[in-house]
Amino acid sequence: MALDVEKIRKDFPILQRKIKGKPLIYLDSTATSQKPIQVINAVKECYENSYANIHRAVHTMSAEASEKYESAHEKAAKLINAHGMEEIVFTRNTTESMNLILYSWAHQNLKAGDEILTTIMEHHSNIVPWQSLQAKGIRVKYVDINEDYTLKMDDYEKLVTPKTKLVTAVHVSNTLGVINPVREIGRIAHDNNALFVVDAAQSVPHMPVDVKKIDADFLAFSSHKMLGPAGIGVLYGKRDILEKMPPFMYGGDMIKEVKTTGTVYNDLPWKFEAGTPNIEGGIGFGAALDYLAKIGMQNIRGHEKELVEYAFERLGDLSGLKMYGPTNPEIKAGVFAFNVGDAHAHDVASILDDEGIAVRSGHHCTMPLTKERLHTNSSVRASFYLYTTRDEIDALVNGIETAKKVLKVS
Ligand code: PMP
Repeated sequence: MALDVEKIRKDFPILQRKIKGKPLIYLDSTATSQKPIQVINAVKECYENSYANIHRAVHTMSAEASEKYESAHEKAAKLINAHGMEEIVFTRNTTESMNLILYSWAHQNLKAGDEILTTIMEHHSNIVPWQSLQAKGIRVKYVDINEDYTLKMDDYEKLVTPKTKLVTAVHVSNTLGVINPVREIGRIAHDNNALFVVDAAQSVPHMPVDVKKIDADFLAFSSHKMLGPAGIGVLYGKRDILEKMPPFMYGGDMIKEVKTTGTVYNDLPWKFEAGTPNIEGGIGFGAALDYLAKIGMQNIRGHEKELVEYAFERLGDLSGLKMYGPTNPEIKAGVFAFNVGDAHAHDVASILDDEGIAVRSGHHCTMPLTKERLHTNSSVRASFYLYTTRDEIDALVNGIETAKKVLKVS
């Protein structure tokens, strides 16, 4: 079903904003998404009407806040087809989810000589945690990319060994926009008795994701990239794996009983949610999940795919533009990284800002990919979401033309 984008845009107050006298054109949703009024109101309502600590008191407001916070777990479970909320741990963000796996699984289960297989296109949050294990004699290996920016699937056969204990990959690259074949990668991991960890920070907000189909052991994503507040993230984990893992942090709320002689930990997912959580963030996230469910993830992907096709058409006409990422819309999400001749990405982004267009410039937290494979220090990145329109892509094209003139790129 086609999205009624004009109706959707009315839900986002910030889209009425002007930047330097021009209408805001927000093309930086990969960094973080904007928030609909339904999410803003849910957080406001929480503060104005039912703000209290969760899981601690019997009073009405605590019960209301607890119900909303817990039901956000249920809604996240439903979105990704997890068995239930016991498989949904709320963290701060994707980065913290990866660190939870590092401390509560990898440190417990891996030993010197073991190997972790990641990819060259990962966000730093899916490289640096694993590199920290190198001090323990654990090796980190990288699947490379082809000329067309897809993963070298042949590398898996070459790089997986009996020592490989964890295989991880980003579902959608936040720089290349490529949609990786995670089901196939998961099969390879499991055929070799390794766990499979998916960085879904850029897929869950934009397309249907089913943890059962992917057969992910762990899958991580962030609320702030999917219309919800910052400071809330998700770690999905298969129940039997989470049950065997020790807590990540210790303290209040993650316990069932504490005696001077020892502690019995709480049930899942609370065993992994120590201390007062981001109550209002969790409640706002619940509202974001309702919003996305109402629109439908398949419809969001459909809209973004149309934008991808249109962006290829329009950006493809521009001379001097070097684009990074696959050209097949079937495996391309709404993320376009590019450079304009030899111009510095920050200069281009700042000229676009003068036109009211917000894009990201830099290494996008994918330095190994950017420096070692794309052979550049930075790129400009324009990214789309459910509120992005074709007119905004036209404005981007005009903005790039202006940048080319100012920066004297032919
Ligand atoms: N992985 C990917 C693919 C991302 O795009 C990002 C955010 N840019 C992250 C991980 C990290 O997300 P967060 O900053 O919310 O932890």
